[in-house]
Amino acid sequence: MDLKELYRDVILDHNKRPRNFGTLEAADARADGHNPLCGDRLTVFLKMQGDRVEDIRFEGKGCAISTASASLMTEAIKGKDKTEIGGLFNKVHSLLTQQEAVADPSLGKLAALSGVREYPARVKCASLCWHTLNAALDQGGATVSTE
Ligand code: ZN
Repeated sequence: MDLKELYRDVILDHNKRPRNFGTLEAADARADGHNPLCGDRLTVFLKMQGDRVEDIRFEGKGCAISTASASLMTEAIKGKDKTEIGGLFNKVHSLLTQQEAVADPSLGKLAALSGVREYPARVKCASLCWHTLNAALDQGGATVSTE
């Protein structure tokens, strides 16, 4: 199995069985995101402990890439603080937008998103969950649009 197939399988798996999907009863913060280009919509719920994300859920309706990306993100950031999340976001952003970017080992399964950069129209599908997360972290509730 080559890397591309492995990445495709990770995306398919997380789309079919999204992790941390649903609402969070005791959420401290939430934000809604919308990507009008594709029609993806999602809501991110956070339970914070100081600067650290103690728990996270997401729900919404979107394409396979937006769902898989949100699922992978929730797994990656649970337990991390705002600074660590900011660092991770920067790495994911370069992976999605720079053709020559190499996946940093700290990205783990998020590396599967590198396949998305071959389809520039889908980059916003993959980054929507991160923008929504940032809105939830910054303001404790907002609506963001990728436009
Ligand atoms: Zn999409």
